[in-house]
Amino acid sequence: MIYDLLIQQVTVVDPGPEGVMVRAEQDVLIQGSRIVAVQPTGQVDPTSAARVIRGEGMVAMPGLINTHAHAAMVLFRGSAEDVPIEEWFNDYIWAMETNLTPEDIYWGAMLAAAEMIESGITTVADHYFEMDRVAEAFVAAGLRAHLAWAMFGQNPREELDRTAAFAARWHGAAEDRIRVWMGPHAPYTCPYEFLQEVAREARRLGLGVHIHVSETTEQVQTSLQRYSVTPIQLLERAGLMGGPLLCAHAAHATSEDIALMAAHRVGVAHCPKTFLKLAAGIAPVIAMRQAGIPVGLGTDGVASNNTLDLWEQMRLTALLQKHERRDARALPLHEALTMATWDGARALGEEERLGRLAPGYLADLILVRLDGAHVQPVHRVEAALVYAVRASDVDTVIVNGKVLMEGRRLLTLDKDEILRQVRARADRLIQRAHGRRLQTYRSQ
Ligand SMILES: [Zn+2]
Repeated sequence: MIYDLLIQQVTVVDPGPEGVMVRAEQDVLIQGSRIVAVQPTGQVDPTSAARVIRGEGMVAMPGLINTHAHAAMVLFRGSAEDVPIEEWFNDYIWAMETNLTPEDIYWGAMLAAAEMIESGITTVADHYFEMDRVAEAFVAAGLRAHLAWAMFGQNPREELDRTAAFAARWHGAAEDRIRVWMGPHAPYTCPYEFLQEVAREARRLGLGVHIHVSETTEQVQTSLQRYSVTPIQLLERAGLMGGPLLCAHAAHATSEDIALMAAHRVGVAHCPKTFLKLAAGIAPVIAMRQAGIPVGLGTDGVASNNTLDLWEQMRLTALLQKHERRDARALPLHEALTMATWDGARALGEEERLGRLAPGYLADLILVRLDGAHVQPVHRVEAALVYAVRASDVDTVIVNGKVLMEGRRLLTLDKDEILRQVRARADRLIQRAHGRRLQTYRSQ
């Protein structure tokens, strides 16, 4: 056997620096964890591959990259609806999160892993607590993950040491499927001195920093009053742009903020459904892209998004930018597809090995059915993928050369057991009568 896996006769969609290439009637050849060839169908003898997947009628494309999530928050799905951000945090999320045990977080991450695989996500940048349990869940599921243990700077030394120890255990683990980032929550929750300490520690450990920033206009106003600079400028002042930095949201980035982020090659995770549900405003995605900032897409947590569906984020991103600009030409198909894949890889600093379906890249790819009544006829593959395909059209998911789902059957996870575990925990986890709170959100 020369190849481990041959995917026969697919339409290959490959986003990259020159736009999105679409080629029909292709075979994809995989050896170990890598894509070794993409070539017209029929040139290779199927008996030279240990395993063959027939892909007629399907698209093969890079797996979707979720650049900002809180996986275990699937446990709070639908529990904090129609409330403003202050109430959302203080009366719901930070109250309910005090109920979580490490075991709860493990089963939440397992449910999230099942949902992400079923919807074609192959890499996730996750930001939460008890991240050893999240890492265990994602490794078992077969996903690729960039993990950050959330910190508020309440006990600075303890929190920094915990992240250092977590990184020592997991950074580069599971055949380098797991990477660790530092996870200060946000400039509006962490003291400034703590952000400075995080910057120093990140450089010492050689880790990137994943943080929330500039989610609302109030946060920007408060920062200007308190520090005389915007939250994004505050990150630079604290030294956080001296290494890899991933900013979730940046919805209210000013033109100066955008120039600053571009100059320091900061990545942005754009999560439009969260902004819409919390009425927080629309990020200047086109201005950020034009400045050269890698803007990936994120689901954020399910407590604000309700699903882990990156197809929906892709669609919302394109529609919102067209609407904002009153310009139907804004954020065209190829840009939306690239944001969900290769730009996500760029935002995570993974563009050398992820986000494309091309020889030499890691074999993180998905097969998507195009035979649904809601997709046919397919006059243009890119249009089908951005505006018609549903997450449930994802048929097969491969990460690091390993098949995680085939014909919509999960091969690494026991979904019945996951659902049983989650249902047994669900009611206890949304209790709020105890009056405890993890943290306090102040809009002023
Ligand atoms: Zn978030």
